[in-house]
Amino acid sequence: MKRFPFPLRFSIPAVLVLFGTVLGVVSFHQEITKTYRKTEEDASHYARTLGSQIAGILDYLYRSRDVEQAELVISQLGSDPRLHLILLVDQQDRVVLSNNYELRQRPVSTTEAAPHLLKFPDVRQKMAGDLSFSQDRRYLRAIYPVILKAQPGELRPSNVGILFIEYDLLSEKRAAYAAAWNQALTSSAILALFCIGLWFFFDRTLTRRVNRLVAASNQLANGEFSIRAGLSGSDELAQISIAFDQMAAGIQENTKTLRRQNTTLKAQQEAAIDGILIIDENRTVISYNQRFCQLWQIPPELPEQGVDQVILESVLASLAEPEEFIAKVEYLYQHPEEASRDEVLFKDGRILDRYSASVISPLGENYGRIWYFRDITHLRQSEEEIKQVQRFLTSIIENIPNMIFVKDAKDLRFIRINKTGEDLLGYSREELLGKNDYDFFPKHEADFFTTKDRDILKAGNILDIAEEPIQTRDRGLRILHTKKLPILDDTGNPQYILGISEDITERKQAEMDLRHAKEVAEAATQAKSEFLANMSHEIRTPMNAVIGMTRLLLDMSLTPEQEDAVETIRSSGEILLALINDILDFSKIESGKLDLEAQPFELLTCLQEAVDLLSASAKLKGLEIHSFHALDLPTMIVGDVTRLRQILVNLLSNAVKFTAKGTIVVSVTAHRQDQVRDLESGSGPEKFVASGAAGATYEIQFAVQDTGIGIPVEKLDRLFQSFSQVDSSTTRRYGGTGLGLAISRRLSELMGGKMWVESEVGKGSTFYFTILAPIAAQVLPVNLHPGVQATLPQS
Ligand code: ADP
Repeated sequence: MKRFPFPLRFSIPAVLVLFGTVLGVVSFHQEITKTYRKTEEDASHYARTLGSQIAGILDYLYRSRDVEQAELVISQLGSDPRLHLILLVDQQDRVVLSNNYELRQRPVSTTEAAPHLLKFPDVRQKMAGDLSFSQDRRYLRAIYPVILKAQPGELRPSNVGILFIEYDLLSEKRAAYAAAWNQALTSSAILALFCIGLWFFFDRTLTRRVNRLVAASNQLANGEFSIRAGLSGSDELAQISIAFDQMAAGIQENTKTLRRQNTTLKAQQEAAIDGILIIDENRTVISYNQRFCQLWQIPPELPEQGVDQVILESVLASLAEPEEFIAKVEYLYQHPEEASRDEVLFKDGRILDRYSASVISPLGENYGRIWYFRDITHLRQSEEEIKQVQRFLTSIIENIPNMIFVKDAKDLRFIRINKTGEDLLGYSREELLGKNDYDFFPKHEADFFTTKDRDILKAGNILDIAEEPIQTRDRGLRILHTKKLPILDDTGNPQYILGISEDITERKQAEMDLRHAKEVAEAATQAKSEFLANMSHEIRTPMNAVIGMTRLLLDMSLTPEQEDAVETIRSSGEILLALINDILDFSKIESGKLDLEAQPFELLTCLQEAVDLLSASAKLKGLEIHSFHALDLPTMIVGDVTRLRQILVNLLSNAVKFTAKGTIVVSVTAHRQDQVRDLESGSGPEKFVASGAAGATYEIQFAVQDTGIGIPVEKLDRLFQSFSQVDSSTTRRYGGTGLGLAISRRLSELMGGKMWVESEVGKGSTFYFTILAPIAAQVLPVNLHPGVQATLPQS
């Protein structure tokens, strides 16, 4: 359709004006024509009537020879201004009468009527009037015959004049014109008013509303989706407006949805771990994400240019196989129906996983191609590492000295076994795999294995078979230590059984041998201890006799030499006795025959007694012994006072022995113990702790500190072993057996405690030990019964 070139607001009024004008002109023209015709008709009628009447009158008057009257008639006619020329012409065409006197008696040919002379004969002939209009239709001429003098007996009058009347229509036409003009003006004015009204109407109903629609469409086209035409009414335009508004609302909604989808897609694209590039069917870049630029190490301005080729060219240099890459890309662009997945290798060792597929609409139109890239360099590396680990594990599994095998849970067939397994059982993998225990082992063994396997599968946890006899092909019966566990699938059902077996045949044999040897050795130790105990006892008695005798001898009068000799005998005897006592104690402890007493005693008294015993020899060496104790120390405790004193004397005598100058400090502290734990703890001391106990148990800690020679660090660990001395020179210088500390530690351990030492060479040593002791039922103040052993009825 050809576009209408003018806007309605102009074209409608223009059309109306044009239409009005044409209408006005046409109606005016018709009116004029009509009026003119009417005027002419009226004039003709009038002229005819007048002509025939006047001709008749004149006829009559001339017959009665009343020429005067005829003259009067003519002059009366002449008073009518419309009658421009009136002539009465005789037979010879001479003017007889006229409204213009000057024309009388003149031939017609000299008057204005001359052009019409030609018609006269005809009129005379026919004896009938003739009417005719002038060329310009201004004048109407009536020509009538008038019988001037009828001759008697004449059939045909011979003297016939002519009445010529010229009627001027000008004034009438003017009046008619003016009337027509007025009417035309009036109707034009009405028409104009009507047109203006019409224009207003159109403006209201059409132009403005159309403009509003047009403006709304333009705004919509410019992206203002919230625009609405909102025309009211129920006409077609209003309907169009409603349709438009619905369309706009639809577009707005769709745009919103599209924008949302677009945003979501964009966000999705940006959030992806993959680099994404989308190219349309003309190989223009439609979309890409930041990750894409990062992966390909290109600035974002490059894809911004929108040309796929530019990107391709810029990345080629960094690729390991650029030709192959280009070929693949080109191939895929030429085969839009194909998807592809492969890897892109870079010169710097990076690997990208590339996936590409066409973008096809649901209607099957091809919109180009989408490319995904993911950096799988690390993945490949870890895969390689995993492979290495797998190889490593496999080699471990293959070379481990244990048999490792896997059976399927369904029918317990071997599905995997390592080399050690092959060697142990004496069957090759080919022989073993796919078979079960009944194919290799005696029935009772196979029954045993199968039952165990079923048990594991039922229980679902590890089974430890400490000793599993198994009949091998060429190594006879072997003893295995086997652990089996079920391997579950995702749903928690057992799928496999994994077994690990250690061949313990040799170890088992060695253990048996060892146990036997140990039993023999223990028996020997026992015998030795008993022997020593007996021997000690046997030696102690004569020794006491020897010492007693030498004391008696010393009381007698002896020469100085004799006294010296006897004194030597006595001191040597006492040393020997001490040694024997030590040995006796030690062997008692070793053979487990030492029983501790459980009697209430005063802790501080015991300590004081030990100090007193050593104070003399200390004083001899110029040493001082100080003792300290904590204030919260329990007064009375239950235990073996003799053995406690023995430990203290031992440590104190060592301190005195190995100290040249300075002081020796003994200190005691105590911590209340948790009752329950103490009663339940240990096997040795519980009797000691429990009997005679009446209240809380205490851990009592003793420390004997000296400023002596100290002990080298490397010797500390050997210190508490029996017969151990730091070095032989010490023995030579200080004497001793090397049993004291060993006995002391064992005693403290029997009392539920322990012993340890801190020492520095040249500065001194501190020996610590602890014992566990319950406080006694009845507490007697220490100072009331000094040195008295409290005896209480046993509970
Ligand atoms: P002995 O009867 O030989 O003293 P002990 O078992 O009592 O046996 O002591 C073993 C060795 O530990 C001693 O020979 C000595 O070398 C070292 N020793 C013990 N107590 C001390 C100490 N207070 N200072 C330095 N050395 C010590």
